Amino acid sequence: MISENLNRLNKTITETAERCGRKRSEIKLIAVSKKFPVDKIHEAYDAGQLYFGENYVQEIVDKVPEAPAEAKFHFIGNLQSNKAKIAAELCDMVETVDREKLGQILNKHCAAVGKTLQVLVQVNIGDDPNKSGVKKEEAAGLMEGLRQFPHLHVCGLMTIPPFSNTPEESRHYFRGLRQLRDKLQKSGYFPEESVPELSMGMSGDFQVAIEEGATIIRVGTAIFGQRLA
Ligand SMILES: *Cc1c(COP(=O)(O)O)cnc(C)c1O
Repeated sequence: MISENLNRLNKTITETAERCGRKRSEIKLIAVSKKFPVDKIHEAYDAGQLYFGENYVQEIVDKVPEAPAEAKFHFIGNLQSNKAKIAAELCDMVETVDREKLGQILNKHCAAVGKTLQVLVQVNIGDDPNKSGVKKEEAAGLMEGLRQFPHLHVCGLMTIPPFSNTPEESRHYFRGLRQLRDKLQKSGYFPEESVPELSMGMSGDFQVAIEEGATIIRVGTAIFGQRLA
C-alpha cells in the first residue's frame, strides 16, 4: 500500500511541477513518518523513498538507529533546547529553528561531532497563535543571529500555514513565504545564485505549494495513511 501511495504521489508531484514549468528534481519529498513504526520507514525506503520527517525526539531516538543507514531524517517538530543534541546528531536537517538560542545549542553539539547541520528558519507566516515560528518581520534578525554559527548551514525557510479546509486557502501564505525568501535573498541573507529552500505543503495542499515554489514538501497521511492519535 505504501509503495502504491508513493507511486501515485510521485506521479502527481511530477505532473504538478511540469504543469507550472518546474522540474521534478527541484522538489524534495519528505515522507512524514511520525506515529508510524520503523517497519513502515523500511517499506517506504524499499519503494525508493529516501527522506523522512519526524516531529518527536523520542521517535528519532527509537527509529533512526533501526532505519536504513542511507535514509535521511528531517526534524520538523517543536524542538526543546534540552533535546537538541539528539536532533543535531541523528538528523540531516532541522526545519524548525525559530530562535537564536536553539541555533547556538545545535551548533555546539554539531561542533562536538564535527558535523555541519542543515537548518531552515521556521516562519509563522499567518501570525497563527497556535503555530511556532518567527514573525516574518523577525526572520532577517534571526538569520543575522544564526550567521555566527559555523556548524549550521541555513538553507531556507519553512512554514505551516493556518489550518484551512481547502488547499486554495493556503496559497496566499505559500506565496508570502516565497516573497519573504526572495526579499531575504536580495538583502544578502542567502547566496545570490542559490535557490534557497522553501519547505511548505502537506498531504492536503502540496500541489498548491509546488505551484507557489515549494522545494521541500512534507507529506504523511497520503503515504502512510491516517495516523492514530
Ligand atoms: C504531521 C506533519 C506533516 C504531514 O502532515 P500530513 O497532513 O499527514 O501530510 C507535515 N509537516 C509537519 C510540520 C507536520 O507536523
